[in-house]
Formats: sequence, C-alpha cells, structure tokens
Amino acid sequence: MKEKLTRRELLKTGGLFTGGMLASALPGAATAGLSPQKIAWDKSFDVIVVGSGLAGLSAGITAAEAGSETIILEKMMAHGGSSVISGGTFAACNTEAQKKAGIKDSEELYFNDLMKAGERLNVPELVETLVKNSADAHRFLVQRGALYEKELRTVAQHSVKRCYQPVYSMGLNVIKPLLRHYLGLNKAHLQLRTKIDEVIRDHSGRAVGLKVREGYLFDAQSPSDDRTNQTGTARYYKARKGIVFASGGFSRDLEFREYEFPQYRKIPSTVQLGATAGALKAMVRCGARAMHTALVRFAISIGYEDIEKGILLDQRTGKRFIGEGASRMGLSYKIVDLSNAGSSWPALIYDVEGLKTIYDRDKLEIILNNGEMQKFDSLDQLAEYFKMPAAEVNASIKKYNEMFHAGIDTEFGKDFKKTKASPIEKAPFYACPVYPKFNYTQGGILINPKAQALDMGNEVIPGLYVAGEAATGVHGAVRVTGCSTVDCTVYGRIAGREAHMMKEI
Ligand SMILES: Cc1cc2nc3c(=O)[nH]c(=O)nc-3n(C[C@H](O)[C@H](O)[C@H](O)COP(=O)(O)OP(=O)(O)OC[C@H]3O[C@@H](n4cnc5c(N)ncnc54)[C@H](O)[C@@H]3O)c2cc1C
Repeated sequence: MKEKLTRRELLKTGGLFTGGMLASALPGAATAGLSPQKIAWDKSFDVIVVGSGLAGLSAGITAAEAGSETIILEKMMAHGGSSVISGGTFAACNTEAQKKAGIKDSEELYFNDLMKAGERLNVPELVETLVKNSADAHRFLVQRGALYEKELRTVAQHSVKRCYQPVYSMGLNVIKPLLRHYLGLNKAHLQLRTKIDEVIRDHSGRAVGLKVREGYLFDAQSPSDDRTNQTGTARYYKARKGIVFASGGFSRDLEFREYEFPQYRKIPSTVQLGATAGALKAMVRCGARAMHTALVRFAISIGYEDIEKGILLDQRTGKRFIGEGASRMGLSYKIVDLSNAGSSWPALIYDVEGLKTIYDRDKLEIILNNGEMQKFDSLDQLAEYFKMPAAEVNASIKKYNEMFHAGIDTEFGKDFKKTKASPIEKAPFYACPVYPKFNYTQGGILINPKAQALDMGNEVIPGLYVAGEAATGVHGAVRVTGCSTVDCTVYGRIAGREAHMMKEI
C-alpha cells in the first residue's frame, strides 16, 4: 500500500493539498476535502525540520532539547547548507562584549539600521523580534560550542561595532559544534539525501506531514534539479507536532531566477549548489504566501568596505564609471549594466600604499592567494592584463590623482576623506576584477513573529513554521551583513519552540 500510493491517487482522494487546488482552496484550505488519514505514513516524528543549515540546527536543537523526537531532513549528501560555507558574521546588540568594550548600542539603533538598509520594506514586528533576541541567540550558539573571536568587528551599515566573527571567519566553526551537540541529544535524528517534495495538510488546514524522497541524489548538471531529477523513493512522513522549513534560499536556481531576475542572467553565485526553489514551491503549493522573491543581495569579490579606497575602471573604456563610495546595490546594478552592454568585469586598482589600508585582510588574503588580485610593476602591464586601453587607463588614473590632491572629485563627487581613499601612484600596483555574486535571496515565505507561515489571506497555516533564508519579511530590500545568521538563529529557535509546543496529533 505504502509504496503504491501515487501522487495521482493522493490527488484523487484529496490526500495532498497541492498547487492545482490552490486557487479553489484559498482561503478555505480546511474545506478542500483533505484526508491524510488515507496516507499510510512510513515514519512519524514529533517535529520535522527541513534543512540542516544554521536555521535548521537552531530549530532542531531547540525542539529536541525541549523533549520532542526531532528529525532534520537534508536533501544533499552533506549537512550544513550555505551556513557551513558562510563567513558567519553575527550581529547582536546589547552584548557582554559591547559592554566590556564600552560600546553604546540599543535595540532601537539596531532596529533603525535594519529598517534603513531594508528601505522600509521590512516587516517591523519581525525586525523587532530579531533585534530583541539577538544577544540571547549568540549566547545560545556559544553555549552549544560555536567558536567566535572575542573582538567585535566594525561592519558596513551597522552604526556601532556589534558583529561577532567565527574563528577563521568560517561558518564551519559554528555548524560543526552545533551538529555535534544536536546529535548528542535524546531522540534527535539527521537524515541526508532526503528531499521534501510536498507538504500535506489535513481537513482543518493543519500541516501534518511531508511527501519526501529517500535516497535522492542532487544533480548539479541539471538546469532545474527540482523539475528534472526523479531520483529516490517516495515516502510519507508524519509530523505529530510541527514542521519547520529551514530550507535556505534559491540563489542557485537558474531556471527560477530566469523570471525573477532576467537582468542578472550572467551573475554567478557564492552559495551552496543545492540552493534551489523546490522547497519554496512546495510551501506555495500548500497555500503559503511567497513575498519579495525578486530581491537579491550581491556579494562582491573584495570586502565591500574596501572598494571605496581604490579606483574602479570600466574594462572596455579604461574610464571610471561610478563614484567608488556607491552603495553595494547601486554599484552592483551599474556593474550588471556594463556587463549586459558587453563589458567584462571592471578592474579595482590600488597602489602599494593603498593596499596597506585594506580593512578586510581575510578576504584580501584569499584573493591574493587564489590569483583574483594580481600584482603589476606598471599601469601598462595592468592595462594589458585586463585588456583595457592603456592610454585611457593612464589618463584616468592621472586625473584621479590630481582630483585626490585637490580634494575634490569633479567627476563623480566621491568624498576622498570619508572614503579613506589613496592615490594610485606608487608601484607595484594591485588590481582585481569586481563583480557581484548572488549571495542571498531576501524573498521566501512570509512569517509572523512566531515563525508561523502565513497564507495569502494572512492567516496562519497551523503546524507550518519557516525560519532563516527560507522565510521573508525581516530584511526588506537588502539584508545587512551579519544579519542572516542572527535571523536563522532567532527564528530557528522560535520555530523549534513553537513546533514543539503544538498539540500532538
Ligand atoms: C559565502 C557566503 C558568505 C556568507 N557570509 C555571511 C555572513 O558573514 N553573515 C551572515 O549573516 N550571512 C552570511 N551569508 C548568508 C548566510 O550564510 C545564509 O543566508 C544562511 O547561512 C542561510 O542559512 P539557512 O539555515 O537558512 O539555509 P542553509 O544553510 O542554506 O540550509 C538550508 C538547507 O536546506 C536544504 N534543502 C533545501 N531544499 C530542501 C528540500 N526540498 N528538501 C530537503 N532539504 C532541502 C539545503 O540543501 C540546505 O542544506 C553568507 C553566505 C555565503 C554563501
């Protein structure tokens, strides 16, 4: 019976609440004639968590520590998602480290920083919850073994120093200890290569289970793994209490991106290979509301704060095209425009003295080691390497230096003092291409401060929780550095706690 129960049969019996039913079922999911009791469940757990990154581990640990039998399901062969490869910067206010260092911070200041960066597209109650719980979230991680440097960091868009950095700037130093802690808990399970395809809701609208595929193998070559990859065996897992989607973003889903971001076709991504939109689509099919799915945050190859200290030249013309102090997104859009007009990535140039002023030494070391940042004895050599017209490059830099010494940027109005810029005078010169990379998708399923998924009528979908990058509402237009990790931890914990507290079925 179990293996023979096909999707078609389920649809016939009304056992699955899926896309085809969505239009007719909204807002009355409860009336869709669902009968999950007809499903022969293969396995059951109190709490099921989808995704093994920071949000999933925060939820799983919280639910398991509270006594729920919990399973974390992960579609990839390895745990950790984008969280494990992330830089892991974590922004929290009113922390012990801030008090010790005499840094004055407040929930209000942090809240305002996030609302400003998010261009007020953020849901204020979600930001408030994040800010209020940020210091406790950091303590939660440290108490479970996460390794952070003691020194706080100054990071762009934060009014004060409030960012913790994992040891060696590696998310691994957070995820590895958390996973070890989780697996040491009573009745806490992790299952890899298990892909979630559908959410199952009962006659009352409550999310009660998942259709999954065990033994699934991600296909990195597919243009749309979610559509073309049929590997694995279908199974039905029941959640006696709640389901937490901590399934991350969709920066790697080229097919999904095609419609959301047609202008960013050529833009690569920094995130894990499995960051596709399948889980998002499954939640939408069961009636959840997706929002802000056309908002993206770009990462740039060098520390964003350091771009303004150098000069940026268009590869085709050898000329400046923007004030180097432009915002992260303003700069990214301009570079995308250049690329769409046929130019290669622009070159960011420093001289030997300018290079010494770079703040993010970790990133600098990486790009010096991997060859992205090259050293040149002359500007002509540099121009040749980047295939730029040498005469224009020399002329642009000469003009830039003159403006620097005169203290006024008559071309783009860059504030040389504020940006702590240097002239480009003394060999050797250093240059790297600068290009945006998909680093984070702000969109996802809209939640409330209890991490409950909302439907198109803004009603709660009982039993369905979403946390981390899979959710939306916290960040608005642009996520600020160090604020995804705190989002994952705060809302992962809330989702784990709330799922644990659901009445058992
Ligand atoms: C290089 C890099 C550096 C970064 N640096 C920072 C930083 O310094 N500070 C900061 O705040 N943020 C940073 N970010 C962003 C941040 O790391 C991520 O947004 C965050 O880790 C996402 O965590 P998550 O738990 O929501 O998702 P993830 O960690 O991506 O985990 C989601 C998991 O769900 C799995 N999954 C997806 N769909 C399914 C499905 N259908 N079935 C089963 N499993 C599924 C995925 O395979 C994945 O393992 C960085 C990101 C990158 C890529």
